[in-house]
Amino acid sequence: MRLLRLGEQGQESPAVIDDAGQVYDLAPFLRGRDFDGSFFEGDGIDQVREALGQGRLQALSVDGRRIGAPIARPSAVICIGQNYAAHATESGTSPPEAPIMFFKHPNTVVGPFDDVAVPLGSSTTDWEVELGVVIGRRCRYLSSPSAAALRIAGYCVSNDISERNWQLQKSGGQWSKGKCCETFNPLGPWLVPASEVPDPQNLRLRSWVNGEARQDSTTADMIFPVFELVWQLSQFLVLDPGDLINTGTPQGVALSGRFPYLANGDVMTLEIEKLGRQEQHLVSASLVDSD
Ligand code: ZN
Repeated sequence: MRLLRLGEQGQESPAVIDDAGQVYDLAPFLRGRDFDGSFFEGDGIDQVREALGQGRLQALSVDGRRIGAPIARPSAVICIGQNYAAHATESGTSPPEAPIMFFKHPNTVVGPFDDVAVPLGSSTTDWEVELGVVIGRRCRYLSSPSAAALRIAGYCVSNDISERNWQLQKSGGQWSKGKCCETFNPLGPWLVPASEVPDPQNLRLRSWVNGEARQDSTTADMIFPVFELVWQLSQFLVLDPGDLINTGTPQGVALSGRFPYLANGDVMTLEIEKLGRQEQHLVSASLVDSD
């Protein structure tokens, strides 16, 4: 079972895909509710699974409809930096001894096939395939990584797009300036419930630019695995249901010097085993939503 949202930006409607690939409309069943914090906290995933199993949902065609991000706008997008040793090395630093945390503005979250805007004045826009973790229940001073495991709603593909000069040279000492540009967090195509991903540390994750391979790694190479990250983060802040954690990217980004940065007209493709594939075209920022 996979959860997805269909429709234009800001008007997405919830849907579910069964294991045979059939899509079902969830709007009548959820009566205006979305895949947000109260949905996850209120056992919404279990209710959807039950309704699906009982044949109570109406089939739906995706043809021609936009696929949105698989969750409603989160209250926070929390990112982990340099969580793969080889990526830390290609970034010119040694692997961190404690998780590096930074924030991304929640308004960066867009659909998995939406255009991505190269920011005005940018020459170092970069891709980052990452395992996205969606929080299912409030996390506050958790006692252990195994307690954290019970509070995860699900997983999805996340692209933590970065403007490297702004992240590193114009940063003023932290990274968010190069991480918060509009459209900088494509998410999806769908959310896979945590119960269907028993081992999040055994997923192959890959990216391509214009069809050429870039990143090809596995979540087994994370320095701080998912459950430990959630446990550690909960000692520093409260994680709310529906929040998104981007868990770091493996080696193979343009920052390494091995590949050119992104430009208008390029196409990014990202895939994580069991979690699907997303693809975005790069466009000039001035052509997106100009007024
Ligand atoms: Zn990242």
